[in-house]
Amino acid sequence: MNLPDLQEAKKRSNAKPTIKDALNLKSSKFKGQKFFLKTYGCQMNVHDSEEIKGILNNLNLTETLNLNEADVIVLNTCAIRENAHDKVFGFLGRIKHLKREKPNLIVCVGGCMPQQTSVAKLLQEKYPFVNIVFGTHNINKLGEMLLNVNEKQNIEVYSIEGDVYENIDYKRDSKYSAWVNIMYGCDKFCTYCIVPYTRGKQRSRLMADILKEITNLKLDGYKEITLLGQNVNAYGKDLSEGYDFANLLEEVAKIGIPRIRFVTSHPWDFTPEMLNVIAKYPNIMPYIHLPLQSGSTKILRLMGRRYTKEEYLDLYNRIKETIPGCSITTDIIVGFPNETEEDFNETLDVVKKCVFDGAYTFIYSPREGTPAALIKDNIPLEIKEKRLQTLNNIINEHSLKHNEEYLNKIVKVLITGPSEKGENKVCGYTETMKLVNVIAPNSTIGEIVNVKITEAKSFSLDGEIVIFENIC
Ligand code: SF4
Repeated sequence: MNLPDLQEAKKRSNAKPTIKDALNLKSSKFKGQKFFLKTYGCQMNVHDSEEIKGILNNLNLTETLNLNEADVIVLNTCAIRENAHDKVFGFLGRIKHLKREKPNLIVCVGGCMPQQTSVAKLLQEKYPFVNIVFGTHNINKLGEMLLNVNEKQNIEVYSIEGDVYENIDYKRDSKYSAWVNIMYGCDKFCTYCIVPYTRGKQRSRLMADILKEITNLKLDGYKEITLLGQNVNAYGKDLSEGYDFANLLEEVAKIGIPRIRFVTSHPWDFTPEMLNVIAKYPNIMPYIHLPLQSGSTKILRLMGRRYTKEEYLDLYNRIKETIPGCSITTDIIVGFPNETEEDFNETLDVVKKCVFDGAYTFIYSPREGTPAALIKDNIPLEIKEKRLQTLNNIINEHSLKHNEEYLNKIVKVLITGPSEKGENKVCGYTETMKLVNVIAPNSTIGEIVNVKITEAKSFSLDGEIVIFENIC
């Protein structure tokens, strides 16, 4: 049994991680059995779940979307927000009876939440029916843990990050659009954020290994890749190999995959060279997610964000100048401790100046173990909610305004799947990451098609396919 320790997780050493081949254990022990996997949280977790599915498939388990059919249940959890935490424990409460009805059912809880000592202890004390608890650093060992499962609860959560694994057998959700990890962990330590503790220190993958993975994805017919990292702009800083994110982006662009995206960017690490590379290669999509978090320099300092309001605005303007037509979205937290009405107005000022294409907005809630959790959460909930409402009204207005600029234009859309908006519709994304519902047959899924935009809404566009050789 291994319980995590937050103090240990804070430590950063200069030791380079070992690069190893993934275990990719194969066994027929679970032949004919099914797994149910539920994922909470960000794109990183979604991609980790593709690794988990690969591990389970290698043990001969097949996926079911019906919980009652499952022989193995895996929850891949998120520690960023309180409600994700509540949802996981709510879910565990609801499946307890399944374990009574089916004693051989194996329940696994993994990912970011168990990296918190209090969660691992709670699972140990109050949820003994959970068979396996694993963290973010040993996903690769899940196969081994399943093969050795017995009636005793097995908690294996490491505080310190482990090796960097290559040649992972992912079971990808899409045949057209793929996530590619370029780095793990984060060294930024924004004061409100739990990620540097749950995912460990920054470890970049070697460029050669990333390029090999993307070349193979291109050969497999993938049309789009998204480079993934908590702070992609810091890529390479931990490697001393003499290359950075701008160099990586350029080499990835040369592979010739039609669409390249990346998330998430930290404004502090964004260099002019990165902007020039994005502007130079048409297959790097003109879309940047650039978290603001707050428009008040005072609050940004309390958040440990390492930039001022003015520096953020300057970067925003340079992006718009260097990459014409680039769409920019953001993240904003309202109600951080000590945020006055004046501070909130600074945020509104940046929002009005930038006119973002969209934003993920959140009410601040403390994460146990972070430095910000030690500051008194002194903003009443009703004020936080009022600020969020004011902010969202402006964000939605701006989003609609941007979307209306697309009316009657013809844009390229990568169709990713059936639309929820009608049986004769599919959906996909423009180069600028606008969601479009398109009247078209399912046979267009996986294709990049020309679409004429017929209607603009706050959060999506409607359109129809046009057969048109050259579009401007
Ligand atoms: S950059 Fe800041 S907010 Fe983003 S993962 Fe790292 S610590 Fe968290």
